[in-house]
Amino acid sequence: MRQIWAFILAVCLWLIAAPIAFNRLFRRRLVWQFERVEDFPDMLMSGRVYLAGEDDDFWGAAMTCPCGCRETIELNMLPQVRPRWSAPDGFDGLATLQPSIWRRSGCKSHFFVRNGNIDWC
Ligand SMILES: [Zn+2]
Repeated sequence: MRQIWAFILAVCLWLIAAPIAFNRLFRRRLVWQFERVEDFPDMLMSGRVYLAGEDDDFWGAAMTCPCGCRETIELNMLPQVRPRWSAPDGFDGLATLQPSIWRRSGCKSHFFVRNGNIDWC
């Protein structure tokens, strides 16, 4: 009888722990990719860095904060306005942004987007 309870307890623990472990794994493996848009969508997807503009003339980039706070981060890409972010490795595929992104409000996250990965500072 005791073994049955131990088994039930183990199953319960697994049911609680598995989604948390899966979530961590998933979040770590989330790859951020560029997506060209004419204008930012209302709902931003995690793992996408949206580039707004025409052809290769982009005026801004937007992404959800990778810390999980779900805030939208908008970045200026116009050369005449500071601060300004650029995509040194091009505007397709894995996202790389320069310089680092440092939120002054809210969660105050500070990170680099490099080759589709978030490198926390
Ligand atoms: Zn955040």
